[in-house]
Amino acid sequence: MSETEISWSGWGDPAKAAPLPEKITALLRDLLGVKPREVPPVALEDIAPRPSRLSTAALQALADVAVVRTDAESRVRHTRGKSTPDLLAIRRGDVSDAPDAVVLPDSHEAVLRVLELATEHRFAVVPFGGGTSVVGGLAPDDTGFAGFVALDLRHLDGLVAVDPVSRTATLEPGLRGPRAEELLAEHGFTLGHFPQSFEWASIGGFAAARSSGQSSAGYGRFDENVVGLTVATPTGTLTLGRTQKSAAGPDLRQLVLGSEGAFGVITSVTVRVRPVPEVKVYEGWRFPDFATGSAALRRIIQDGPVPTVLRLSDETETLVNLAQSGAIGEEGGNGCLAIVGFEGEPREVAERRARVREILAEQGGTDLGEGPGEGWAHGRFAAPYLRDSLLDVGAFVETLETTTFWSNIPELYKAVLAALPGHLVMCHISHVYPSAASLYFTIVTPDIDWDVAKPAVNAAILAAGGSISHHHGVGTDHRAPYAEEIGPLGVEILRAVKARLDPAGVLNPGVLVP
Ligand SMILES: Cc1cc2nc3c(=O)[nH]c(=O)nc-3n(C[C@H](O)[C@H](O)[C@H](O)COP(=O)(O)OP(=O)(O)OC[C@H]3O[C@@H](n4cnc5c(N)ncnc54)[C@H](O)[C@@H]3O)c2cc1C
Repeated sequence: MSETEISWSGWGDPAKAAPLPEKITALLRDLLGVKPREVPPVALEDIAPRPSRLSTAALQALADVAVVRTDAESRVRHTRGKSTPDLLAIRRGDVSDAPDAVVLPDSHEAVLRVLELATEHRFAVVPFGGGTSVVGGLAPDDTGFAGFVALDLRHLDGLVAVDPVSRTATLEPGLRGPRAEELLAEHGFTLGHFPQSFEWASIGGFAAARSSGQSSAGYGRFDENVVGLTVATPTGTLTLGRTQKSAAGPDLRQLVLGSEGAFGVITSVTVRVRPVPEVKVYEGWRFPDFATGSAALRRIIQDGPVPTVLRLSDETETLVNLAQSGAIGEEGGNGCLAIVGFEGEPREVAERRARVREILAEQGGTDLGEGPGEGWAHGRFAAPYLRDSLLDVGAFVETLETTTFWSNIPELYKAVLAALPGHLVMCHISHVYPSAASLYFTIVTPDIDWDVAKPAVNAAILAAGGSISHHHGVGTDHRAPYAEEIGPLGVEILRAVKARLDPAGVLNPGVLVP
């Protein structure tokens, strides 16, 4: 594979890996009791997936329509996603979920043909975008199938059309975040979609998993901006989105957004774009506690004006962030850090910013200036590299997220913390809406049985009235709590749609649909 590949056993560009300074490793050892893992990680060249289970006839037929790879390295690199359990498993050399082949189509028609072949030869198909799923969305249950293929969409990577009048762009699914931004910038536009996985995740993955970016207050979630979709299914092509809003029955785009490859393969996405902002400014605010900070965020998002970035760390996350930047214990206490960002045209930004600053001060915030904001913006994509380094020294680090109405945020927050006793758990409000917000938790601990702890947190989230996911999706990990969330009739509706679009069940079996 010639292009730069994401690390096979960690996050991102291997050249950007940043080992922890010895001081921090010692702190983790002495303070948290973190011990090195007993078994060191295996080397890529020592991992041997089982022999491909695909028949020679199936492989031959696939090779007639797309590039097909069956070498060990390609298969290992398409094994599962990037959750912490995924990374720990692959570091142990466990590739029991490796695809039997990696198939790289370069057109909608080729995708349709692969789906026909899957039905004919009884193999399963896992659409593969950036491979950054953290919910088991790339590890199908292939029981009863003659193997499965990873359908890597990287060759579908074009900017198909730009409509500058309507401010929309049609993009192919395999484009990753940075390349999509590069292509749109040539026309003066941006998606404004910057999830932490931006550098590697793909347009198709953003739509399929209802992704939400760090600037969602200003630009909206990815799914909110999608106006059109083309989907290849085993029973034909779906073309959705004649215009942005319509009263022509239920909006079937909503059936595809969040469908995680279980109903079809998204082969193009038409999405709202905005002019590239002329100015970007980020600043930090301190609130005395999480409740006061939450109320300030709610006030802003409900009554406006709305900044582009709006997030608030709880006391624990603030303390850890300050410890990392060496700013701990400054005058005024630590409290809770909010990051507030503004992007756009200079005059409009100045006016909006001035009013937001007034409101934040009225709501009990202390202005920390641009330092913390710029620091956040500069390091916004670095955290996943830190996770790798923490895993390297033996710590367990994982994230989870949920959402509820504002009135229920305190209960949900308490419920998640109570479900993870004895561990370092940090939280921030990551996305805000007029009626609701999302809570994003990071767990750092020397040792945890995640197979026990995660279902306990899921149960606590549902019992406290939260949704099982705000933006990571369902995958296989959240399938059971998702079934509980939507109820038996909801499950039957999903199964009926799946049966109509994918009667042989070849698409992502076991993902999403209970
Ligand atoms: C370090 C890290 C940080 C993250 N930060 C964020 C964040 O800030 N916000 C956020 O929303 N998410 C985040 N995620 C989760 C993940 O990046 C998102 O879910 C993203 O949308 C997945 O995109 P992808 O291209 O990697 O999809 P993949 O992981 O390749 O696929 C995800 C699911 O969608 C299916 N799929 C992929 N492409 C298609 C297609 N074209 N058609 C049909 N189905 C398809 C796959 O089969 C799979 O089930 C993060 C993940 C990591 C590891």
